[in-house]
Amino acid sequence: MISSSLQEICSLFGQPVAGNPTQFMIEKAFACHALEWRYLTLDVAPEDLGDAVRGMRAMGFRGGNVTQPHKTAVVEFLDRLSDAARLMGAVNCIVREERQLIGENTDGKGFMQSLGGVIDPAGKRVVLLGAGGAARAIGVELALAGAAAITVVNRSAERGQQLVALLNEHTQTPASYAAWEGEFPLPADCELAVNATSIGLNDPEARVPIDFSAAAQDLVAADVIASPPDTRFLAEAKARGAKTLDGLGMIVNQGAIAFRLWTGIAPDVTVMREAVEEFLSL
Ligand code: NDP
Repeated sequence: MISSSLQEICSLFGQPVAGNPTQFMIEKAFACHALEWRYLTLDVAPEDLGDAVRGMRAMGFRGGNVTQPHKTAVVEFLDRLSDAARLMGAVNCIVREERQLIGENTDGKGFMQSLGGVIDPAGKRVVLLGAGGAARAIGVELALAGAAAITVVNRSAERGQQLVALLNEHTQTPASYAAWEGEFPLPADCELAVNATSIGLNDPEARVPIDFSAAAQDLVAADVIASPPDTRFLAEAKARGAKTLDGLGMIVNQGAIAFRLWTGIAPDVTVMREAVEEFLSL
């Protein structure tokens, strides 16, 4: 039961969850900042999503995270969206303001914060692999940061073209779609390649079908996969001389931004990073 002194955050998942790195990291941050808050993980079926969000509102939850398949579907049950979430059409974070639930997206911003330590995407030519929730968030943030061009490579042409249309209609960065049949040959002029597919999640052997043979010497390859962080995609890129960025920074940063939105406190990101590493036994 919810006690009056306890603040609660809930996380809406589309599949059974036995704890996850975000929950572990946020709970550690609550403890570090002496907050009597709890982060619950809840498995919600797609047909129950509206009831779950109404329940959050009725029971006074301070906010939540949303994972797939709910990131797009949740939009219609929220009271308002941040500008970025509206543009992306995807919400990964819910913040309560009085009785209203506001949809935010911290995935793209979390990615951009960790990317900033490796490369400034302004003026860079990007290949973005994937067109799901993570890719939409990252594509929009890269475009808003002034990327020179974005090529979206996705297995489903329809989803890939939807993301390209969104980028071309709402940002200044020209975007194009490239079909993904067999191995995608990374063009020599690509300066940043981002794996935003789910290939590699919980499977270090899973291979993103990319041919790096024409890759430029100064290529940066970034992966959204945090578990495990040393993906085959990054290993192959590194073998061709690329600088690499794993998904750990993104998961920590998206959580830190959400934490600040929920609590008003800038969390200790070192504690959060250590928590993710502990959870993943790194
Ligand atoms: P979605 O389900 O929305 O999208 C998945 C994407 O992966 C789609 O583009 C899909 O293509 C593509 N894909 C999946 N399997 C294959 C395959 N075998 N071959 C080619 N393409 C494939 O998921 P999200 O975008 O929300 O998440 C993607 C990944 O990002 C997840 O693994 C998630 O864990 C990770 N993530 C990491 C975060 C972090 O903080 N580090 C934050 C958010 C997400 P298609 O459209 O053709 O189905």
